[in-house]
Amino acid sequence: MDTLKAKIRHVPDFPKPGILFYDITTLLRDRDGFHGVVGALATPFKDDGIDLVVGIESRGFILGGAVADRLGAGFVPVRKPGKLPSKAVQESYALEYGTDSLEMHEDAIGNGQAVLIVDDVIATGGTAKATAALVRRLGGTVHALAFLIELEALKGRNQLTGERVISVLKY
Ligand code: AMP
Repeated sequence: MDTLKAKIRHVPDFPKPGILFYDITTLLRDRDGFHGVVGALATPFKDDGIDLVVGIESRGFILGGAVADRLGAGFVPVRKPGKLPSKAVQESYALEYGTDSLEMHEDAIGNGQAVLIVDDVIATGGTAKATAALVRRLGGTVHALAFLIELEALKGRNQLTGERVISVLKY
């Protein structure tokens, strides 16, 4: 795992002062790194009958799409408001200041389909919690949530009590 960690670039003060941004583009461009993280995210669920991987905009699309293919599952995007072309359902969540929202197509998930939610980073957990709520509203079963990076100090897992959560790299 230290080899994977070494491929992630840390960018201080992006996108605003005080934030240490975990830039995974340096990992994604590395063929062994990319293959390794997709395996680490997919392998725990390989025999679980996952129907759909739900990926969160935007780095969750890259990882989630590859994980879906590795698992033989379909892929569904979760997007920022106004981006999806067809009828969508929306869920809002709290930010440090104000709120934000996420959307999914209302017909994106079949009743009872087993869903794996994938994103690059879990920080405060608000994004992941809102995504799990959307999946359930659409009739899906949240099988688990998988993250490449977990920022443990921000305690995002506390937003996801009762869920199965895995993270590949912990900071
Ligand atoms: P949160 O809702 O606080 O758990 O934030 C998770 C979302 O914000 C994910 O989609 C991440 O891509 C992004 N994110 C939050 N903090 C960071 C960070 N330090 N570096 C990179 N991405 C981050």
